[in-house]
Amino acid sequence: MSTPLRFLLIDDDEVDRHAIHRALKQSLVACEVVAAATAAEGLKLAGEQHFDAILLDYRLPDQDGIDVLHSLRGGRFEGVAVVMLSHQEDETLAERCLEAGAQDFLLKDEVNGRRLSRAVRQARQRYQIEEALRNSREQLRQLSERDPLTGLSNRRGFEMALAKAVARARRGDENLALLLLDLDDFKSINDTLGHDAGDLLLVEMAQRLSGIVRESDYLCRLGGDEFVVLMTDLQHPDQATHLAERIVAALQVPVQLGATEQIITTSIGIAILEHGTNSELDLLKSADVALYHAKRAGRNQSQFYSAALQDAVEYRARMKHDLVKALERNEFRLFYQAQIQSVDHRIGGMEALLRWQHPTLGLLTPDAFLPIAEETGLIVEIGHWVLQEGCRQLQAWKQRQPETTHQLVLSMNLSAVQIRQSGLSRAIQNILSEHALDSASLELEITESVLISDTHSTVAMLSAIVAQGVGLSLDDFGTGYSSLDHLKLFPISVLKIDKGFVSAIGHEEKSERLLVAIIAFAKALGMKIIAEGVETEQQADFCRRHGCHLLQGYYFSRPQPADEFEALFLTA
Ligand code: C2E
Ligand code: MG
Ligand code: MG
Repeated sequence: MSTPLRFLLIDDDEVDRHAIHRALKQSLVACEVVAAATAAEGLKLAGEQHFDAILLDYRLPDQDGIDVLHSLRGGRFEGVAVVMLSHQEDETLAERCLEAGAQDFLLKDEVNGRRLSRAVRQARQRYQIEEALRNSREQLRQLSERDPLTGLSNRRGFEMALAKAVARARRGDENLALLLLDLDDFKSINDTLGHDAGDLLLVEMAQRLSGIVRESDYLCRLGGDEFVVLMTDLQHPDQATHLAERIVAALQVPVQLGATEQIITTSIGIAILEHGTNSELDLLKSADVALYHAKRAGRNQSQFYSAALQDAVEYRARMKHDLVKALERNEFRLFYQAQIQSVDHRIGGMEALLRWQHPTLGLLTPDAFLPIAEETGLIVEIGHWVLQEGCRQLQAWKQRQPETTHQLVLSMNLSAVQIRQSGLSRAIQNILSEHALDSASLELEITESVLISDTHSTVAMLSAIVAQGVGLSLDDFGTGYSSLDHLKLFPISVLKIDKGFVSAIGHEEKSERLLVAIIAFAKALGMKIIAEGVETEQQADFCRRHGCHLLQGYYFSRPQPADEFEALFLTA
């Protein structure tokens, strides 16, 4: 004999309970019936004992039958048939009950063992099918949240985990940290060694990361070469820094990729969610801001998010936007600073220095916008404007003030980005002829950083410019990394000694001696020497005595707008 079916009958009407009990006893199906008179009592019993089916009266004193059904479905009663009982035929009610998860809807006088055992069978089958569906859905979900290459969670998985962690942190008043990682220069691995090598590298990095993070941390690959670690239950921000340090160290251990060994560095942006103050979106954005700064600060390091970083990012975004407009709106100006001949203190030349008349921020010097202009490439157009405007101005002065200007040299600064443009030499030639200027009246200043990057094409470009008769000067000499070799390699005719050396005159003996040596050495190469940043008579005197040809600095004049410069220096 098979084990009897166990039924829980929840019905407040004693007469009905009896009738149903009797009907079941008389049927051929072996069964046991446990009865409850209220929903509360029924739910309690259902939680404590196993039943094959629950017979539920639709009308109960303490709860509506559908509500009880919901409570049952929400609990651990899957696979248990729930059969709703009612006194009258009611199609819509029956439908609602079935939708809410009832296995069947019976009139009370229809209840018998056969029908119930069929309901039990069907409920079991239904449960099996539902469970299979649930399992495959769960598998799909897991697949959709996983990165097939590394086996880590993907962006989708991360977003879900982050939302959950943020909610939990808010409830429990705990802190979270987000470490956003980006491999430095991953693109060049893909470009030079191919995508298979790139994939291998990502897998290797994912494995190293998995080995470092704590059990409770959540590691994902967001896409490309971007990974993220979510640290939950953070006791102290230092924990995040320590983890970041360990990651930076572990990832830069050389990787064998095919025949070559590569060293890959990583930049990390860290953001902390403190006591649930910010949202998950803010957290990711903040980590991104910090990552950007880690990259800018030279990569291979981590950076904490701070409000100051945020301000810097916003400032840059605004500057970028305004810079695009500045050319159209004609907001750039050239100021001119005199270069004074040390022998007679007469003007020998001038340097054009860029200014930006910003609509709200006022007059800006290059340090406020030049780095952004270079990064965005806008410097190419701006630099072209500078050359045009400087040459136009020089020609205008030559016409108005022929006596004072006929031997003056105008020098202008070139950015490294400009020099990488293939058409620069031609553009200079065109500008000179457009303004009917002799190439000897023009000098272009480059900095040492230009010399160390991409030497071959730089030499070619600069040589082409010099071949036209334009002078080339090396600006800020002594601040960069250029070697004496560079001076041999590049066609440089003017050396501008950086103000750092000049300001040391009178109180830093070593720098003074270095200055004297540099002057002697440049002279030996037949170069013209300009001292920059001359601010005192003593400095001017020192430079003159040791043989600098030209002196430039506040001692003689600050950079001036064209008309003031003309009135001060060019009016005969
Ligand atoms: P730089 O070419 O070395 O120019 C000299 C800088 O020193 C100028 O700063 C000038 O105002 C400042 N200066 C001059 N005399 C003194 C002095 O006695 N004491 C001190 N402390 N400073 C002095 P400015 O105008 O702010 O320009 C900064 C830099 O921006 C320039 O350094 C140059 O590298 C760059 N720059 C300026 N104009 C242009 C341009 O048109 N194109 C490019 N690519 N760069 C430019
Ligand atoms: Mg300069
Ligand atoms: Mg300089």
